[in-house]
Amino acid sequence: SMSSFDRSKPHCNIGTIGHVDHGKTSLTAAITKVLAESNLAEFKGYADIDRAPEERVRGITISTAHVEYQTENRHYAHMDCPGHADYIKNMITGAAQMDGAILVVSATDGQMPQTREHLLLAKQVGVGHLVVFINKADMIDDPELLELACTFHFALTTFHWCARGNRQVEVEIRELLGTYGFDEDETPVITGSALCALEDKSPEMGREAILKLMEAVDNWIPTPVRDLDKPFLMPVENAFSISGRGTVVTGKIERGIVKKGDEVEIIGYGKNIKTTITGLEMFHKDLTEGQAGDNLGALCRGIKREDATKGMVMCAPGSVKCHRKFQSQLYVLSKEEGGRHTPFVNGYRPQLFTRTGDITCTIQLPEGKMVMPGEDAALEVELITELALEEGQRFTVREGNKTVGTGIVSKIIE
Ligand code: GDP
Ligand code: MG
Repeated sequence: SMSSFDRSKPHCNIGTIGHVDHGKTSLTAAITKVLAESNLAEFKGYADIDRAPEERVRGITISTAHVEYQTENRHYAHMDCPGHADYIKNMITGAAQMDGAILVVSATDGQMPQTREHLLLAKQVGVGHLVVFINKADMIDDPELLELACTFHFALTTFHWCARGNRQVEVEIRELLGTYGFDEDETPVITGSALCALEDKSPEMGREAILKLMEAVDNWIPTPVRDLDKPFLMPVENAFSISGRGTVVTGKIERGIVKKGDEVEIIGYGKNIKTTITGLEMFHKDLTEGQAGDNLGALCRGIKREDATKGMVMCAPGSVKCHRKFQSQLYVLSKEEGGRHTPFVNGYRPQLFTRTGDITCTIQLPEGKMVMPGEDAALEVELITELALEEGQRFTVREGNKTVGTGIVSKIIE
């Protein structure tokens, strides 16, 4: 059995993405198999991973397998989804966060529609670094074909064509990476075969390629900045006046650290209030410092209770800005998930919820386009007034008591 995970190693969240049947689940299994040899993982067979449990995240049904393993350098949580729709929902809702991803591309097919869709989504959700695994190399570099090639000229020609085909896949993928804003020159591209690794065949394409892949993942995908190391931000939950003391703003710190004496801004709904923290308290005890994850009250100098309202954020000055208009990718809940029964069109005005805020918005779609329940779509969202927003931020849209959809801010417009 596996040695216990070394939590002192930096942690990184990754996942396998790519077109259906290109070998994402096989590769996930293969990684655990190869790392298990060094006691760095517990081997998870294909069936263990593919039987991913169904979860409900913000009302949306998603199946995701979470696999853990480590290299000498880092500890990983790896997600793999059984179906294409699960990837879309997962990436939009952030059900499983990814700091980087392994794009799996079959050497026999090359890029396919879901390869492109996953690249677009990865970019939109803020996955900055990918490693490419060109899989099923065993179906190209077939040693039998090579043997035959000595005998039959026809087979020889076929072999050479295939070898070129293999490199052609890499050239095309690099070009595609560039198209979607990834580093087309530096992104590591490893060729191998998940199946060979699983079946202990052709070590060069099998286990050695997996080790090469993990080395590339270790080196190319940066360790994410921990929430604690980011600039301070706390969504405002409430504000109270305490006579003789002033105004206390409450909330749960999303990221960073706040100390007594810090200067902060409280922004949103067209307001920008600068203040100084004069006291911090949690569970009625005074603190000198609060950090990501803490629920606390912050006593603020010289502000009125009405200055801070639910939906605004308290943050390190200048670290976040308010906006009204952005591009987004939205997943619209199906009827079965409790969503709408009918499509919506351009000009639809639901209520948008993000962090602690909610605000009416207008959804802009190309004229004549409609979005069906159960679909995802790229669309423009305009808020009736500005809120603290940044790319990668998640939100839901609701109508009455119904969740209509969940989305991600992919690009700020204004
Ligand atoms: P996913 O849909 O991307 O998760 O793909 P799977 O891992 O389910 O693989 C799809 C099919 O391709 C299965 O029949 C696998 O056995 C097969 N497969 C996966 N990797 C390889 C490989 O390296 N070589 C060959 N020949 N087949 C593979
Ligand atoms: Mg799969």
